[in-house]
Amino acid sequence: MELKQRLADIEVPRDRVSVNRKLGEGAFGIVLGGGEVQLKNQWIPCALKSLRDTASNSEKCTFLSGEATLMRQFKHSNIVCLLAVSTQEEPFYAIMEMCLHGDLKTYLISRRVHAREPGEFSASLPTTLTNFAIDIAKGLEYLHGVKYIHRDVALRNCLVTDKLTIKICDFGLAREVSDKKDYYRFDRRGMLPVRWMSPEAIQYGLFTYKSDVWSYAIVLYEIVTFGKFPYGSRSNEEVCDAVKRGDTLLEHLPVDVNPLLRNLMACCWSFEHDKRPTMTEVAEELARHPGCVAAC
Ligand code: ADP
Repeated sequence: MELKQRLADIEVPRDRVSVNRKLGEGAFGIVLGGGEVQLKNQWIPCALKSLRDTASNSEKCTFLSGEATLMRQFKHSNIVCLLAVSTQEEPFYAIMEMCLHGDLKTYLISRRVHAREPGEFSASLPTTLTNFAIDIAKGLEYLHGVKYIHRDVALRNCLVTDKLTIKICDFGLAREVSDKKDYYRFDRRGMLPVRWMSPEAIQYGLFTYKSDVWSYAIVLYEIVTFGKFPYGSRSNEEVCDAVKRGDTLLEHLPVDVNPLLRNLMACCWSFEHDKRPTMTEVAEELARHPGCVAAC
């Protein structure tokens, strides 16, 4: 398989990989962690995605050509690093760096009660949350710089390391953008993260860098509310109709959201995608106002 050759230089034999607990369930299979992979005679902590035994050949190709091949091209401190693959026997493994605290959504929800207590974080809570937001913005800025649209930007797809650095993961939906077009039209209407999607993505399946910017502002909502579900109890259909009509989460923001952050989110939720800022502008704006992403 040509795809396997593209990953051959990061192939490791199965006896150089150890894992010992399930971290989560993904679209293609399970995510295992708490293990190590031996690379250049060194054992490194890792997590891995393991493809379901029942996966079809086309799912195997999607897994290798999608996440694994994409992820190996990315080198940035706010993007999860693919360390190796193990595809000589089944199930196939995509082996990633381990992010000790798991995904940011679970991390924040489990800290709702104690987050404001002294000593919970080494920096103040607003500084910590703003740093999380800046990390995600920088990860997206990098992806856009190398011409990728993530298309599934959400708090659940941001991982937290032992040093509280945030790394974007889950490239199952990411797509490369050719030089001529800065958008990607998605016509296979499968499972779509509608609550994070922009009006043009919902209406026309049109994904641009700016549709990632829209989703990023939904992530800001998730951060300040410590993991609330966007649009609450509304159904997916109701959300789609509302967003297509021009509704945003601005009306649902807690009253004490920092006005500067509210304004930034409003810009990111501009109905017309070319009016939204770039991720570089967003990252710069947040860096100019340390602590503006405060819990509400
Ligand atoms: P999928 O997108 O296919 O549903 P994910 O990539 O979101 O699968 O992984 C499922 C869960 O596994 C995540 O929500 C996270 O809790 C955990 N996880 C995934 N990758 C890692 C990693 N590198 N380090 C730690 N936990 C991880």
